[in-house]
Amino acid sequence: MPVYEYEHLGEPCRSGRIFEQRQSLAEKALSRCPHCRGVVRKVISRTHVNTPKTDSELRDLGFTKLVRRDEGVYENVTARSRDSRYMIRGKPETIPDIKKTISD
Ligand SMILES: [Zn+2]
Repeated sequence: MPVYEYEHLGEPCRSGRIFEQRQSLAEKALSRCPHCRGVVRKVISRTHVNTPKTDSELRDLGFTKLVRRDEGVYENVTARSRDSRYMIRGKPETIPDIKKTISD
């Protein structure tokens, strides 16, 4: 049976804020902690999260991927239009501006 993670939405009990619960696939998700009856929600398991594979997927998720091209030279293969395509060691102006990338 798979193990699911649940998170207390209120005060955690002795099972911890996040606890694991073994359940069959047919069982419905818990809405209450089996220990304290507090309200819980299911946590999306890390193992079910798809790993982004392509450079454009990484870029869309806000990652920056650098590929070493030469001694001290890295190509930013996830460069956005306003980013420099290459990062050169010792030239800080070539580093992607994270503040512009992350808006929130
Ligand atoms: Zn509890």
